[in-house]
Amino acid sequence: MLMQNKRILVCGVANERSIAWSIARRLHAEGAELAFSYPNEAIEKRVRPLAESVGSSIVLPCDVTRDEDLDAMTAALGAEWDGVDGVVHAIAFAQREELKGRFIETSRQGFQLALDISAYSLVALAKRMETLLTARSGAIVTLTYFGAEKVLPHYNVMGVAKAALEASMRYLAADLGPKGVRINALSAGPMKTLSAAGITGFKTMLHHHAERAPLQRNTTGDDVASTGLYLLSELAAGVTGEVVHVDGGYNIIGM
Ligand code: NAD
Repeated sequence: MLMQNKRILVCGVANERSIAWSIARRLHAEGAELAFSYPNEAIEKRVRPLAESVGSSIVLPCDVTRDEDLDAMTAALGAEWDGVDGVVHAIAFAQREELKGRFIETSRQGFQLALDISAYSLVALAKRMETLLTARSGAIVTLTYFGAEKVLPHYNVMGVAKAALEASMRYLAADLGPKGVRINALSAGPMKTLSAAGITGFKTMLHHHAERAPLQRNTTGDDVASTGLYLLSELAAGVTGEVVHVDGGYNIIGM
């Protein structure tokens, strides 16, 4: 088993459809010990039973917009574990009104909120986890999307946030590399989750993707779980600062 005796913090499980949950289940199947975070009580109600189902009793509150939450989660985790082998960052948010119509209409407040939750949170989390990750030469994986690279209808400010997330990931890779800590981004094809439901025309995106991707199908939870496992495991010991596409090859097609 690839993750025997490995301790992984998973941030971003909202329900059983979450990408973070697919990755968590695979890590568990490979022997990992898991901890989870949740941003509010509504999500906590869903995360606790899921955590329990994979034998995890470490379930901690953390709204990434609050420094005090990030500090408290880090302290609580440090009290349980002497180090962390991996962190899954699968967190993003934009207001619904920003995910339709023209990007030019993005409000200052909507821009700041999307960038704060979806991009800065990776920096804030990496900073808090640095000592625990260094103790075990750990790795971070974050979730991104093709909208960082190319314009997609209605993805709007989230595309800009993902571009910032990917650039942040590279700068973090340079900072953390000398400490033996790796960080990579997994760029998943569109998948039907709670967050995706907020994007206008998402069904059309799914249909278009399956039609155009070389593999002629949509991305699955198993697809992202396998690559998430790889990036967090010894198999990717020489890989950092990369954006790995798990999209059936969609991103290589021009026409
Ligand atoms: P999801 O809704 O299941 O997960 C999003 C998570 O973000 C939720 O758990 C939510 O609680 C968390 N979150 C939002 N605001 C937060 C805050 N202030 N503090 C802490 N957590 C907060 O949806 P998902 O599709 O599994 O999304 C996970 C990641 O994957 C996101 O970064 C998303 O952009 C990315 N992604 C999704 C797709 C897709 O098509 N679903 C494709 C590529 C990348």
